[in-house]
Amino acid sequence: SRHHRLDRFLSARLQMSRSNLRLLLAAGRVRVNGQVERDRQRRIGLFDAVVCDGEILQANRPRYLMINKPAGVVSATRDEHHPTVLELLPRGQREGLHLAGRLDFNSTGLVLLTNDGAWSRRLSLPETGLWKHYRVSVDKPLSDEDVVSFSQRMWFDFEQIYTQPARLTIRSSFEADVWLHEGKYHQIKRMFGRTGKKVTALHRLAVGRIQLDAYLAPGESRELTQAEQQTAL
Ligand code: URA
Repeated sequence: SRHHRLDRFLSARLQMSRSNLRLLLAAGRVRVNGQVERDRQRRIGLFDAVVCDGEILQANRPRYLMINKPAGVVSATRDEHHPTVLELLPRGQREGLHLAGRLDFNSTGLVLLTNDGAWSRRLSLPETGLWKHYRVSVDKPLSDEDVVSFSQRMWFDFEQIYTQPARLTIRSSFEADVWLHEGKYHQIKRMFGRTGKKVTALHRLAVGRIQLDAYLAPGESRELTQAEQQTAL
């Protein structure tokens, strides 16, 4: 299932008719791992490089990137109305990548991108239980009650679940660090809602052992080091 026929792969990527696809292949305009490929039934895997007219449709290796998400950007690969995290990457570097975890539209900070579905699946599994570290600003002064309520399980009626205990440390009157084991929809905003506060800014600093590189300006990205990629789990 992780292999696709070349013609199916190309038609999904290039939105071309069958007859145009045949012409494209016959003309020798498609290369797989550097070699011209004319067989439309050729099976290609996730990490076979596919290039059409010099444009990389799929890279030949697993890729892992971090990006510093700015506010006002959607955690998606496509959106009709707003710029997406993927569009922050230079053209030619986006192909085949998906997001390993999301941040809300106005949240900022660490988002991971990869073309390695097994890696991102393991990263997001509840059993993997990665801590995600956030810096959060709120509209009312924080107190020890917030620390206690975050440490206790909260009932989320919509999902019919209890949240797992989270950790909150107060940095200043209006700023806290929060560590979560999970990522339900708007989870931190909803948890602060329980204590009568509104989140005014939310910035992700780390996912597991992968820390947001302090040198990345909003919108900038870089490849993970091998150590980051391997120690992530
Ligand atoms: N919790 C939220 O409410 N928003 C995020 O983007 C992440 C965690």
